[in-house]
Amino acid sequence: MNQPEWPPTEPRMLQQLTCIVPVYNEAENLLQFIPQLISECMKFTQKLDIIVVDDGSRDNTLMVLKQLQQRYAFKVLVFSRNFGKEAALTAGLSHVDPKSDATLLIDADFQHPLSCIEQFIQEWQNGCEMVYGVRLHRKDRPVLLRMLSTFFYKLIDRITPIEIPHDAGDFRLLDRDVVAALNQLTERERFMKGLYAWVGFSKKAIGYLPEERTQGQSSWGFKKLIELAITGITSFSNLPLRMWSVIGAIISSLSLLYALLIILDTLVNGVDLPGYATITVAITFLGGIQLLSIGILGEYIARIFTEVKQRPPYIISDILTSRDEN
Ligand code: UDP
Ligand code: MG
Repeated sequence: MNQPEWPPTEPRMLQQLTCIVPVYNEAENLLQFIPQLISECMKFTQKLDIIVVDDGSRDNTLMVLKQLQQRYAFKVLVFSRNFGKEAALTAGLSHVDPKSDATLLIDADFQHPLSCIEQFIQEWQNGCEMVYGVRLHRKDRPVLLRMLSTFFYKLIDRITPIEIPHDAGDFRLLDRDVVAALNQLTERERFMKGLYAWVGFSKKAIGYLPEERTQGQSSWGFKKLIELAITGITSFSNLPLRMWSVIGAIISSLSLLYALLIILDTLVNGVDLPGYATITVAITFLGGIQLLSIGILGEYIARIFTEVKQRPPYIISDILTSRDEN
């Protein structure tokens, strides 16, 4: 029997390409971004679908998109409010035409260079199922944030079975099979970087230098990033839950030893009033540990709560198509 060759010797043909662009307050960027994206992608495919997800923008992004739709063919999914980039990507992915050979996820702020698309497509043509961009530097983030993010990736590497590449983001080209796999995942609180790793498939990293944001500002504040990190850890690791049993066991054994010591001491030396300091230290220490572990339990319970409510991860209030799109 003939085994399929791997990697395939014949480059794959890209007949249909889909681009998903999540946007939140990007009015200033979009006027230039959409035409440039279209002209770049049309070099490589005969059929191009563009899905812009307006993630509840508060500026005139929607108006700009409607204006652009007069001249260019693309689809806009309008969210009823801001649900976050992860939800926007999820919505985009679930609207990809199953016939589309590959799907590109790209930001609208020019930080994902359009010039990389060619290389992404070449890798896909050579048989790679997921091509992703890796930032070669992260000068756009403050030092403290960069240090925290390095720590986060190290931690997630250690405590989860999945491998999330450092400094890789949502700038990706996904094969049709990867899109289908991601669409099967039903969890509501989505940490996309973890999900890309979880679904597997053959991957290839391409380094790129992120451009400065041309207009507007990054919408990822410190608080949002910390929230994303907590979602990332709690969706992919049970270690924070388990470690409390170990810590609890160690502390209980130590306290038992200590209790024996006190009993012996009382028997030998009689009742002794001092010990105030020891008790205070023990109570506060244990109190702190208990509060922390309850907090961690709470994190997971909150996640279970979110999942059992079965709310959709986003609400689409409108779908706008250009006149010549169907
Ligand atoms: N974005 C979004 N919803 C949000 C925040 C951001 O759809 O709640 C979009 C944003 O318009 C941009 C992309 O996600 O196209 C990346 O966002 P941003 O540039 O703020 O993030 P950074 O580049 O700093 O990671
Ligand atoms: Mg950006």
